[in-house]
Amino acid sequence: MPLIAIEDIRKRFGTNEVLKGVTLRVEPGEVIAIIGKSGSGKSTLLRCVNGLETLDGGAIMVADAKLVPDDLHLRALRLKVGMIFQQFNLFPHLTAGRNVMLSPMVTRKLAEAEAETLARAMLERVGLGHKFDAWPDQLSGGQQQRVAIARALAMQPIALLCDEITSALDPELVNEVLAVVRGLAADGMTLLMVTHEMRFAREVCDRVVFMHEGRVHELGPPDEVFGNPRTPELQQFLGMAH
Ligand code: ADP
Ligand code: MG
Repeated sequence: MPLIAIEDIRKRFGTNEVLKGVTLRVEPGEVIAIIGKSGSGKSTLLRCVNGLETLDGGAIMVADAKLVPDDLHLRALRLKVGMIFQQFNLFPHLTAGRNVMLSPMVTRKLAEAEAETLARAMLERVGLGHKFDAWPDQLSGGQQQRVAIARALAMQPIALLCDEITSALDPELVNEVLAVVRGLAADGMTLLMVTHEMRFAREVCDRVVFMHEGRVHELGPPDEVFGNPRTPELQQFLGMAH
């Protein structure tokens, strides 16, 4: 059984049909890269999986539960599926540790001591155990993004959605964030990541999805997608990306 089943979903904004029937089944522990031109629907796809957008057609199942637009269900879903964005969006008035503790205390109702233990463990996992008391503006962009990952992990998600999480970083800070993602993949986390890091996608991902004009245009193992692109659109995209 797939952990996430995306079945023929459609999404439009006004008359602009952004997802034109997308089907993708993600197995537990799978790491999937989503690539494609700007505007091809990558972010919208992730937002649909996390229940941030309503669907105009099709269905999404997460761990066997159908995503239906009722508040309680969506809230439960967002607790199960974590999402990390290009902008880290840490609360500037909270320390790194407090940023990680907040959601577990508010939504999972953990006691403060319990949340602190959890936050310390999650910061440790992203290599920032020593930064519990640091303020966001004392951290580099790469460190802030790693805190954002720790914050998502503290909710103990069954899958993580990553939307261009290294795109806002200076080049020398990209690898420390990718190293954390690589560790999560090795630990068996199910990951759906929109990325421009083609080499990383090739090394770490089980499958690559090439989105083009709101559709899954090619889908396969990285060696196939990168090594033997079949459509002119993917050939052109890879030519541009290299
Ligand atoms: P990508 O992440 O691949 O760059 P997006 O999913 O962000 O693409 O956007 C796909 C298309 O949907 C674009 O044409 C974009 O302008 C449009 N779009 C995305 N979000 C909205 C929105 N909230 N309202 C209107 N149009 C949107
Ligand atoms: Mg996007």
